[in-house]
Amino acid sequence: MKKIRLDKYLADAGAGTRSEVKKYISKAQVQVNGKTVLNPAEKIEPEEVEVCCLGQVVHVDRYEYYLLHKPAGCVSATEDVRERTVMEFVPSRRKDLFPVGRLDKDTEGLLLITNDGELAHRLLAPRRHVPKQYFAQIKGKMTQEDAQKFRQGVEIGEKNPTLPAKLEILSVENGEEGWISCINLTIEEGKFHQIKRMVQAVGKEVIYLKRISMGPLYLDENLERGQCRPLTEKEIELLK
Ligand code: URA
Repeated sequence: MKKIRLDKYLADAGAGTRSEVKKYISKAQVQVNGKTVLNPAEKIEPEEVEVCCLGQVVHVDRYEYYLLHKPAGCVSATEDVRERTVMEFVPSRRKDLFPVGRLDKDTEGLLLITNDGELAHRLLAPRRHVPKQYFAQIKGKMTQEDAQKFRQGVEIGEKNPTLPAKLEILSVENGEEGWISCINLTIEEGKFHQIKRMVQAVGKEVIYLKRISMGPLYLDENLERGQCRPLTEKEIELLK
């Protein structure tokens, strides 16, 4: 692992904000391998040192992985000046965590949060075609013709049509509000508003969207909206 600044290490580990940990350092409250260090820019090798802050060993796992059931109403970003972000649901103060990919503000469901950049890259790289399954409620009547169009790829105003996607029609009902269809849709890419634009391309509208899976990772039925838990060893293994 590459060397990093002591203040960044402490902030990443959740010992405090960058300015808080700088204060601890200047007040001689931080030791590296038993020696007080007063320079916040001191470079350390995270896996080869023991760092104490305020008398406690600061232990940093190299990587952390969390499964969030994203609720609607927050954005998939680490920071935002106006909106709530998904990070507020994560039970870790580490500063290097980030969401893997984006769900729209009004989309719910599975979101992986980690600091493992390589894994994120593997899951998001377009050439890898990692399948993502969504459940959606649609205003309008989804048909087998739509399924055929999605299989072939539809034009959503990008350079190329969408990659083949699998549409499963779960129900089509005529209620007070007109036709409402429930579908599962599996896509292998992640263009901006992709599902909404695909559904629009066949003349209908998404009124509710929830991500159910991403590659081998599934939304945990026991997680309420807004709940977040560490991935199990088995889930981490499946992602590698
Ligand atoms: N497709 C969308 O339209 N929105 C999402 O949040 C995810 C996929």
